[in-house]
Amino acid sequence: MGKKPKPKNKVPSKRWEKYKIEDNRLIRERMCPKCNVFLANHKDRLVCGKCGYTEFKKKE
Ligand SMILES: [Zn+2]
Repeated sequence: MGKKPKPKNKVPSKRWEKYKIEDNRLIRERMCPKCNVFLANHKDRLVCGKCGYTEFKKKE
């Protein structure tokens, strides 16, 4: 097993990976099933501003 030489000007991949995780789990846009509008993103839940529909985020 040999070490691979690191490319000098490579963009750090962790940053992108983190963004992808956020995009997939946290910033994933959820719609209200009643009003068909985007839910407001709160700390532990997503809330519809129109009807008050709430979805709690699941912790893994
Ligand atoms: Zn709603």
